[in-house]
Amino acid sequence: MAQPSRSLSQTTGFVFSQETPRSTLQVEFIEFRRLIIDLPHIRHLGMTSSDELTTFGGLGLSPWLEQNLLNLGMEKPTRVQEECIPAILAGRDILAAAQTGSGKTAAFALPIIQRLQTNPYGVFAVCLTPSRELALQITEQFNVFCLGTSLKCRTVLGGEDMKSQAQTISTRPHIICATPGRLTEHFIFNDALTNCFKKVSFLVLDEADRLLDPCFDSEIRIILSRLPSRRQTLLFSATMTQSIAAMKEMGLRNVFHLDLKNSEPAENCRQRYCFVPRNMKEAYLAHILSYFLKHNLASIIVFSNSIKTCELLHRTHNYLGIRSTALHSLKRQKERHDSLEKFRSRRVPVLFATDVASRGIDITSVDVVINFDTPGSVPDYIHRIGRTARAECTGEAVTLVTQYDVERFLTIEKVIDRRMEHFEVNEKDVMSGLTRIMSATRTVRLQMAQDFDTKLAGRKRSRR
Ligand code: AMP
Repeated sequence: MAQPSRSLSQTTGFVFSQETPRSTLQVEFIEFRRLIIDLPHIRHLGMTSSDELTTFGGLGLSPWLEQNLLNLGMEKPTRVQEECIPAILAGRDILAAAQTGSGKTAAFALPIIQRLQTNPYGVFAVCLTPSRELALQITEQFNVFCLGTSLKCRTVLGGEDMKSQAQTISTRPHIICATPGRLTEHFIFNDALTNCFKKVSFLVLDEADRLLDPCFDSEIRIILSRLPSRRQTLLFSATMTQSIAAMKEMGLRNVFHLDLKNSEPAENCRQRYCFVPRNMKEAYLAHILSYFLKHNLASIIVFSNSIKTCELLHRTHNYLGIRSTALHSLKRQKERHDSLEKFRSRRVPVLFATDVASRGIDITSVDVVINFDTPGSVPDYIHRIGRTARAECTGEAVTLVTQYDVERFLTIEKVIDRRMEHFEVNEKDVMSGLTRIMSATRTVRLQMAQDFDTKLAGRKRSRR
């Protein structure tokens, strides 16, 4: 579990001192922020439910399910569970915005399992997610919640064999977790499979804001057209930017609308930024990384905005002797899975990732999230840093902000209504590592020109 991060600066020799010399750019930036951003409000984001002792049984779940949860260390529902489980059991559609790591998966999985007990025939629930990793993770959670029963949850994901997947679907597992693209392919190429979905009673959209993005539009439409219209629809997300339009599109009925006002990340995540010159980002990153690693924060995700940067950083750090792995969409599914497992099991301390890993992936004890690139949007920021400080752990997030990212960064601060602390670094130390980093980066760039860039270009061409 991550150590309370605030003690770090107090217990280490790392420089947080006000005396650290600042570049002119840095000073201007800090002043600029001071002018624009008001003092932040202090908000209560409460992971846990109200103080009175609400139990899962009290919310309407069966004793066996409650016992399974106790065995998993889930003694008391979180706020989103407390609110949503009774509403789902009462047959209502859900539109819920709750912060990442707040227990959203169980909030929809548990009432589905509860209802399944009384009608365990055919495909009962379809759960759509924007990424394969998230679908696998939700499947795992369904399966552990159902432990000791015959309920079956299976995945239908891109990158796997269509034929054996179609066979799996035809066995009519009770719950199917799918990515929209692959499920749509099945519907298009094998119309008969639609029959397996005739009894679907629940459709879940996890990370609904992403799934309601125009890029998934045609796939979601096809899926909706193949599912019974009499069903419950549950929309969950950490950020809910398209809620009103979504409700209309999805035909929600008798909606239970939950907005925990938590579009901002968990309160126990210490959020900082580091103002860095664009051409020295790599050196700053290496410095910040080695700082955290030195202080035993050995589970760190570094996000970048592009596949190429992600791979470049991963290879460069490996070249420099920092064990890391990478997760991006140019990797095959097996490689993606292996990367995540290596990181999850702490065989490597650093995961370099694109936003493929930013949504919903639950690794309980990620100590630090570093945004090598300032995220392109506020939801992306929230999702990325939601990988740390999960389930009441503490965590750290540091965002690198260059002279070109200031506006984007200020928008993030404004929307999450929080002014971030400055992560002070000793620039002399950064400079001392500069030559080494730059030379490693150059070497790796050359390597990538041989074996990676053509692959990436091919992928871009095929998408056009
Ligand atoms: P989620 O927001 O669904 O990704 O869940 C985040 C983490 O919180 C997961 O590791 C869950 O196992 C854990 N979790 C969910 N509900 C509870 C609960 N009621 N008590 C303790 N941990 C929970």
